[in-house]
Amino acid sequence: MMELTVLSGKGGTGKTSITAALAGIAESAVLSDNDVDAADLHLILHPTIKEEHRFSSGWKASIDTSKCKNCGLCISYCRFDAIHADKDEQLTINPFQCEGCRLCERICPEQAIHSELNTNNYWYVSDTRFGTLVHAKMGPGEENSGKLVTQVRKKAKAIAQADGTAWIINDGPPGIGCAAIASLTGIDRALIVIEPSMSSLHDADRLIKLIKTFNIQCFALINKYDLNLELSQRIEDYLNSQNVPLLTKLPFDKNMVQAMIHGKTIIEYAPESKLSIELKKLWHRIQLSTHIVDLHQAI
Ligand code: SF4
Ligand code: SF4
Repeated sequence: MMELTVLSGKGGTGKTSITAALAGIAESAVLSDNDVDAADLHLILHPTIKEEHRFSSGWKASIDTSKCKNCGLCISYCRFDAIHADKDEQLTINPFQCEGCRLCERICPEQAIHSELNTNNYWYVSDTRFGTLVHAKMGPGEENSGKLVTQVRKKAKAIAQADGTAWIINDGPPGIGCAAIASLTGIDRALIVIEPSMSSLHDADRLIKLIKTFNIQCFALINKYDLNLELSQRIEDYLNSQNVPLLTKLPFDKNMVQAMIHGKTIIEYAPESKLSIELKKLWHRIQLSTHIVDLHQAI
């Protein structure tokens, strides 16, 4: 079993559309949406939820104002500046700033502070037309997306092992934060989606540096390369300098937008398009990578 994570250094590169297309081509992969902060793979895959699970992201503190004597001790101890006085001088804890360390609860001389486990996140196991999808939904302002990604991946792996599935395809989160790290840990292959813009190149550089610390085999593709040939060449030169194989350069295709509007992959919407043909070749090259060490020779 091989596990592939599709990533981009920034959002809006077309990563999810490409992941969905690969899922359709692979046919029997287990899919997992690791972009738990802004999950959108379900918009194309239209999952039928089979299992729903609550996920606890940590503790949140609150103050019982009937017990609070306004001594101010908790304000001075909170390292996250989460405790404030409202206009009536009553103390409240901002749930978006509270990191759930529970220190205030321990030091309050009046036992006026209590913490509750946050259970505003969910993860799901669903059926899709391309196979099983494990995905999640984070509540507004919730944290610990890395832990939720780890949970989603753990379930996807268990399903793949039980079913004898050859591939797990993860739609990774953008950026290089803890969710991206959780999406990379222990995978076999990372595919980076870059678009021809300076910001995308800059973000891809940070992502490639991160991936190298994990010692994971990493490839890249340039999406909509023909929108800026000069920058695409610059990205190609950069990837060469980093020894990151460029698996494909995907052309801009307005059918991609129409496919998304219709909730389909480009392979379903325009199977004969150049973009669909290139995506099929891309999946073939990813599969070849499990047998061929030198991918430059495979292209
Ligand atoms: S430490 Fe307790 S009593 Fe003191 S201000 Fe904070 S909540 Fe109120
Ligand atoms: S639990 Fe920690 S972070 Fe939250 S308000 Fe108390 S001291 Fe601050």
